[in-house]
Amino acid sequence: MSFLFVGALLLLQVPNIDGIMFYAFIGGNVAYYATGIALAFALRDNRAFCKYVCPITVFLKVGASRSLMRIKVDEDICVHCGKCTAVCPMDVEVPSNSRKKRNASECILCLSCVEACPVKALHL
Ligand code: SF4
Ligand code: SF4
Repeated sequence: MSFLFVGALLLLQVPNIDGIMFYAFIGGNVAYYATGIALAFALRDNRAFCKYVCPITVFLKVGASRSLMRIKVDEDICVHCGKCTAVCPMDVEVPSNSRKKRNASECILCLSCVEACPVKALHL
């Protein structure tokens, strides 16, 4: 969108292009932060913008959903205490091996869940 806007300004040789781009930059940033803050409050999720609006994450999620490196649970050992999910900063449904579990593509491999598990049921 930004590329198209700037490209159109250049192609059409619009006068005062510096001023227009300055105000577009300010307006874009105000819209960006306003949307992010409004979504965070509305959805009670401080990463709502990244998850639902950011166009870059659309491509990242495709790769993340197929990643070979991910947290797996040994279901024979897990005692379903919920400690792993409680410490996860990305709100991932940790004790599940399904690639369709809640926020599966959001994992940042911080390993907090692995450390929190009392029975060592989680591993990479
Ligand atoms: S590694 Fe970190 S982000 Fe990934 S599931 Fe565990 S606690 Fe959540
Ligand atoms: S912390 Fe360990 S035992 Fe508890 S629910 Fe998570 S994987 Fe299962």
